[in-house]
Amino acid sequence: MREFTFHSSRITLIRLFASDDMANDQPKRPSWDEYFMGIAFEVAKRSTCDRARVGAIIVRDKRILTTGYNGAPRGLPHCDEVGHLIVDGHCVRTLHAEQNAIIQAALHGVSTDGGTIYVTHQPCLNCAKMIINAGIRRVVYAGAYPDENSQAFMAQAGVALQRFPWPPKRED
Ligand SMILES: [Zn+2]
Ligand SMILES: [Zn+2]
Repeated sequence: MREFTFHSSRITLIRLFASDDMANDQPKRPSWDEYFMGIAFEVAKRSTCDRARVGAIIVRDKRILTTGYNGAPRGLPHCDEVGHLIVDGHCVRTLHAEQNAIIQAALHGVSTDGGTIYVTHQPCLNCAKMIINAGIRRVVYAGAYPDENSQAFMAQAGVALQRFPWPPKRED
């Protein structure tokens, strides 16, 4: 009887350790916001202006419609080849990531109406205006790029603005 008890408690212990190991081997599935934001950061790696590497993706119904990163217009030399083009302290050579994502939708005839845009940085005023008129209803961004006008415009237009800090905090 004593021997049986010993064995059964050992089996329980082994099971406990086994389930611990399994939990460590299988990281928590990312939420949709985390998943899409991770992709936006991947897209940002293609940026050709190192003053800010920005990535954006437009999503609707959990599907990626288009992607964009900041860079010079098609066929023109990029900042990483010929240097920045600075006017009033900003590099004006590039289209912004959000703009490129919206333009790509126009180019391929994809409606952005009712979509969500995930951006690695908070949109500037020009991008905010384009986001509003592209019918995008939600903006999820990681890094703050404080622009009161941009925030006010989106709020007035009823576009939800939500910060998703990166990398996300995990409660494991
Ligand atoms: Zn540049
Ligand atoms: Zn912008």
